[in-house]
Amino acid sequence: MRVGMPHMGNIYIPFKSLFQQLEMDFVIPPVNNQRTLSLGVKYSPEGLCIPFKLTLGNLIEAAEMGADTLLMPGGSGICRLGYYAKNQEQILHDLGYDTEVVQIGVSERKLFGLLKIIKRLSNNAPWSKIISAFRFGLAKLNTMDRIERVVQKIRAVERIKGTANRLFTEAVNAIDKADDYATLKKVQINYIDQLNQVTREPDFQPLIVGITGEFYVVLEPFSNLDVESELGKLGVEVRRTLFVSEWTKFSWFLNPLGVDEKDRIHKAALPYLKRDIGGDGWESVGEKVLHAKEYDGLVHLAPFTCMPEIVAQNIMPSTKENIPVLTILCDEQIAKPGMLTRLEAFVDLLERKRRAQNNSRQRVKI
Ligand code: SF4
Repeated sequence: MRVGMPHMGNIYIPFKSLFQQLEMDFVIPPVNNQRTLSLGVKYSPEGLCIPFKLTLGNLIEAAEMGADTLLMPGGSGICRLGYYAKNQEQILHDLGYDTEVVQIGVSERKLFGLLKIIKRLSNNAPWSKIISAFRFGLAKLNTMDRIERVVQKIRAVERIKGTANRLFTEAVNAIDKADDYATLKKVQINYIDQLNQVTREPDFQPLIVGITGEFYVVLEPFSNLDVESELGKLGVEVRRTLFVSEWTKFSWFLNPLGVDEKDRIHKAALPYLKRDIGGDGWESVGEKVLHAKEYDGLVHLAPFTCMPEIVAQNIMPSTKENIPVLTILCDEQIAKPGMLTRLEAFVDLLERKRRAQNNSRQRVKI
């Protein structure tokens, strides 16, 4: 059995570690690139969202490399994600690949569902081995996310642009190679230390911009044209609450104990939206309301044709918590020059707003 899965950021690193420790044959398709997108667009129904198209491209590339069993997240929510795996399997069969697409029920079967799938795919490996490999994969995921949080801060203030990104790439490679907890700890300490020593612009107060929107396009840089790095180049510190490690912590471990991290966000959204509308639409509205006082602005990432985010986009201008929001619709038509022009104009607007606020505060003091 050769197992493959689609990309979403660096999520393949913990899965690679898990499958290697279970001595399984894991096929990693090329990271998202223009060919992946072209394949996905070519074989997807036209109106589908970019997460479907890019993940389909990944699955086709994995099948080309010989994968016969493909893992695909699914869910029982109110959006198209629940239909992805079946549709993609059918498309792969139509293309002549005899592959099975195994749906991982991210919202309903939770951790135990995933572990059962791993047990089956690993040819009935002992539970002790599965749990130990799984824990180490999670440790890699947590380490990556802890370092990335520091990267988001340093990008905005570094004197030589690109330094934090370079260190992050090195850190991810080191995490990938680490094969015990002690090495992983050393990698974390070493790279956070290096990031904290990066030469910064003196006395520079970066703008703070939150990133919210649909899970996949927020976490897959290829689909959003690496908006976080581009904001960093413009001197903006990005804040995002969405990290895969946070999601796993709550969804797999704390939600079953009755702790729901989204309660606060949903409560904040309630005056404007009373119920779940599928995907991450409810959370997008809540994020704007909740963080309006902390952020200078918000970048809202939405896949083109994504119903939950279209609803959120239309509600956002009517909230009384008033911060500027830039919605970027992600699809195969999005181009870097257009997005950069919009980001520059947005940052310019935020800078003027901050200057005006500072001036009015000074006038009040006088
Ligand atoms: S939330 Fe939107 S983009 Fe994500 S799967 Fe559902 S419809 Fe597609």
